Amino acid sequence: MLELVTLASGSSGNCLLASDGRTRLLVDAGISARRICRGLKELDVNPADLAGVLITHEHTDHIAGLATLAKQFRLPVYASRGTGLQLCYRIAFLEELLRPFSAGESFAVDGLAVESFATPHDTAESVGYAVSSGGSKAAVVTDLGRVTEEVARAIRGTDLLVAEANHDVDWVQSGPYPYFLKARILGDRGHLSNEAGAQLARSAVEGGARTVVLAHLSAENNTPVRAYDTVRAALEYAGAAIGRDVTLEVAPRAETSRRFRVG
Ligand SMILES: [Zn+2]
Ligand SMILES: [Zn+2]
Repeated sequence: MLELVTLASGSSGNCLLASDGRTRLLVDAGISARRICRGLKELDVNPADLAGVLITHEHTDHIAGLATLAKQFRLPVYASRGTGLQLCYRIAFLEELLRPFSAGESFAVDGLAVESFATPHDTAESVGYAVSSGGSKAAVVTDLGRVTEEVARAIRGTDLLVAEANHDVDWVQSGPYPYFLKARILGDRGHLSNEAGAQLARSAVEGGARTVVLAHLSAENNTPVRAYDTVRAALEYAGAAIGRDVTLEVAPRAETSRRFRVG
C-alpha cells in the first residue's frame, strides 16, 4: 500500500507526504514549517515521526520550510549532490543532516524504496522521485522542461503519477510576462505545459497507472479546469475512461489534498 497527500502545490510552494502506513517521507518542503506541521497534524502525522525529506531541487518553492523543519525535528534530508551543495550554501547546519546521492541512484528509507531520476530544469541537479512499497509505485514528476528518456523510464510501472501541468502555452505566449521569463517557462529546462503533462499522464496510464494527480499549476498561466480538461481529453483520446479506468484530479494550490491510495 502507498498513500500520497499533497500539502501544497504550485509556484507558491510544494510539499507532499508519501507513506506506506509505517514509513512517512516528505517530498519537498516549500511552504513554511508551521504550515507543514499544521497539514501533517490534519493527517494525524507527528512531524518527529517523519523518516526524512526528499528534495527535488533548491528553488524556494521547494525548500522554503526546510531549514526550520529539518532543524526542529533533526530530519535526514535526501538530495542529489548538486542540489545538496546548493542547500548547504543556504542552510548553515544542513551538512550533518544531508544524505547526498547521485541523480539516478536508488536507495531505501526504512521500508520505502526510493528511485531518483534526473529532470531537465534550470537548477544544479534537479531530480524527480519514484517511491515503492509492497508492489505499489508512485512517481512525482514536476519542475522539468521536457520528458526525457530517463523520465519516461522512471514512470514505467507506476500506479500513481503526480504530473506537472504548469501552464497553457498560448496563455504564456499572449500573457504579460517579459520575454526572458516566457522563454524560461517554455524552455527545455522550464516547466511542463498542460499538453506535455497530458502526454506524460497518457504514457503512465498506458503503462498501467490508475491515478493521475496534476500538480505545480501556474497561478497566472493556468487554471485547474484548463489543466484538467486538457489532460482528460488526451486520456480519453487514448481510450481511458476517467472515473472508471483512471482517477484524475488537480492538487489544490494551498490546501491539503485528499489521500490518494494505491495497492
Ligand atoms: Zn517549483
Ligand atoms: Zn523549480
